[in-house]
Amino acid sequence: MTIAVLGGAGYIGSHTVAQLIKAGEDVVVLDNLITGHRRAVDPKARFYQGDIRDYHFLSQVFRAEHIDGIIHFAAFSIVPESMKDPLKYFDNNTGGMITLLEAMHEFGIQHIVFSSTAATYGEPKMIPIKETDPQVPTNPYGESKLAMEKIMHWADVAYGIHFVALRYFNVAGAMPDGSIGEDHHPETHLIPIILQVAAGTRDGLQIFGDDYPTKDGTNVRDYVHVVDLADAHILALAYLQAGHPSDAFNLGSATGFSNLEILEAARKVTGKPIPATIGPRRAGDPSTLIAASDKARTVLNWQPHYDNVEAIIATAWQWHEARPEGFGDKR
Ligand code: UDP
Repeated sequence: MTIAVLGGAGYIGSHTVAQLIKAGEDVVVLDNLITGHRRAVDPKARFYQGDIRDYHFLSQVFRAEHIDGIIHFAAFSIVPESMKDPLKYFDNNTGGMITLLEAMHEFGIQHIVFSSTAATYGEPKMIPIKETDPQVPTNPYGESKLAMEKIMHWADVAYGIHFVALRYFNVAGAMPDGSIGEDHHPETHLIPIILQVAAGTRDGLQIFGDDYPTKDGTNVRDYVHVVDLADAHILALAYLQAGHPSDAFNLGSATGFSNLEILEAARKVTGKPIPATIGPRRAGDPSTLIAASDKARTVLNWQPHYDNVEAIIATAWQWHEARPEGFGDKR
């Protein structure tokens, strides 16, 4: 069986490629390398550089390879950037999905697992958030992903392309053997920013807002290890290939940590003081996001191995400490 991983040179994509290769799968990676890293891709995967908005590129790859299923990560995912440049998000994320579905339809590829996000829920009314809760995004990134879910639904109805939408909460950590990890330019995510301060490659950290209605006034998020997340994609594809219908699943730990708690945990893991200041709120940030993730556990039999945030931060720290410049291929 050949699996195409779109965005397989990115953070979550590269960890999924590595897990697929470990499981003995035949893997093809498609990535435009705008944000991804060629060096992050397991050498056992066949690599094609190109853009999912390019129908000609997709059809060339789908003609050359017999693809049995797709895992799709190729998207922009920075909330503040999406607030400033929403059309970039609708073009790449939503528009890219339309081109991809056209190519899948043309080449008879019937299964796709795709990255959705907790950001599709917006500011939740109830915590923990269930898959059936209202989806009312507070930023264009979440809106672009919600549109992708809806488009996939209608492509399923019309063409029988079955999908699993995995709604991620906050992803962190790195491959425990130190081979790959998180390397974004610019970095905007809390844990890598904290660890860059700890590693001495960044001067300081600003916590965005401490006047939210939470335990200490800072935002609360639900963290999952990137390898556990990668494994959920493999289970989701197997679920579709076993003949199950399209569905959406939250991927989280059902536990929330405030930004200050994450900072404290990182100080403990690294043994570094990690100076921080409190700044204004960041536009588009919901105050609390915690997943109900029992559906993925029962239906997909997903069993995350990392159940505490310090262990997650420890794998990320191992990567950042050993590779402060990341893959070293981007400025
Ligand atoms: N955050 C912060 N300072 C930073 C980066 C992030 O206080 O330099 C906060 C952000 O406002 C949010 C949390 O950390 O409350 C997680 O943000 P991140 O960008 O990592 O993930 P998101 O929740 O947006 O997917």
